[in-house]
Amino acid sequence: MITFVGAGPGDPELLTIKGKKAIDSADVIIYAGSLVNPAVLSGAKKGAVIYNSAEMNLDEVIEVMKDAESKGLNTARVHTGDPSIYGAIREQIDRLDEMKIDSVIIPGVSSAFATAAVLKKEYTLPDASQTVIFTRMEGRTPMPKGESIEELASHHATMVIFLSVGFMDELTKQLIAGGYEEDTPIAVVYKASWPDQKIVSGTLKTIASKVKEAGITKTALTVVGDFLGDEYSLSKLYDKTFTTEYRKGTEE
Ligand code: SAH
Repeated sequence: MITFVGAGPGDPELLTIKGKKAIDSADVIIYAGSLVNPAVLSGAKKGAVIYNSAEMNLDEVIEVMKDAESKGLNTARVHTGDPSIYGAIREQIDRLDEMKIDSVIIPGVSSAFATAAVLKKEYTLPDASQTVIFTRMEGRTPMPKGESIEELASHHATMVIFLSVGFMDELTKQLIAGGYEEDTPIAVVYKASWPDQKIVSGTLKTIASKVKEAGITKTALTVVGDFLGDEYSLSKLYDKTFTTEYRKGTEE
């Protein structure tokens, strides 16, 4: 059995109980060493064989899984954050399916959510934004049609931008070209939940130079939108005059 495990954003205590059990009972562990905190592997069995997939290609990863499976061993395939976001798990699952090797996924705390927590913010703030876009800038991997930063920015939704902190100048230009005002608040969180975490906040106009000053070039998320500001409406859910399925509202 192959278990894909979301390792969380970095802090080993943000690993799920189920994910930890899968890692601690695995005979073979393949972890994405460029981002996964090795501390999440601290409970691994003594005899567990551990591979760092940062140094492997897809064929090599599949070969290790296939070999483990043929010996009746359990494999934990450990990805950073939640594996459904830029995890490149689909290509692995399809190869496993072709070989009739069973796999399951244990979700994890994405860095998107660790970042919101670090900033003490809510992505879906009433009357500010009710939509969250997870995306990245076009780099060496192209973006599909209709998904340029400019096109996505035109929605004025909350945007959570992965993998792109090395191109802040270009990113902010594209966000402004797409329709965000220059004074829209934006934040960059480096290594959310790690001991060396850093937060840089600013506006679309100021952030690129602040990020440069802070020396951040990778492992950071950029979040942008009016949810970072202070203008919003109170929720209906907890409005005392609003009746819900569970609570009768008072008449004004
Ligand atoms: N599956 C992961 C994302 C993998 S893509 C998740 O759900 O978080 C790798 C990118 O994720 C990095 O370039 C960075 O943009 C972001 N990232 C991963 N861990 C992070 C962390 N602890 N803090 C901030 N950004 C992080």
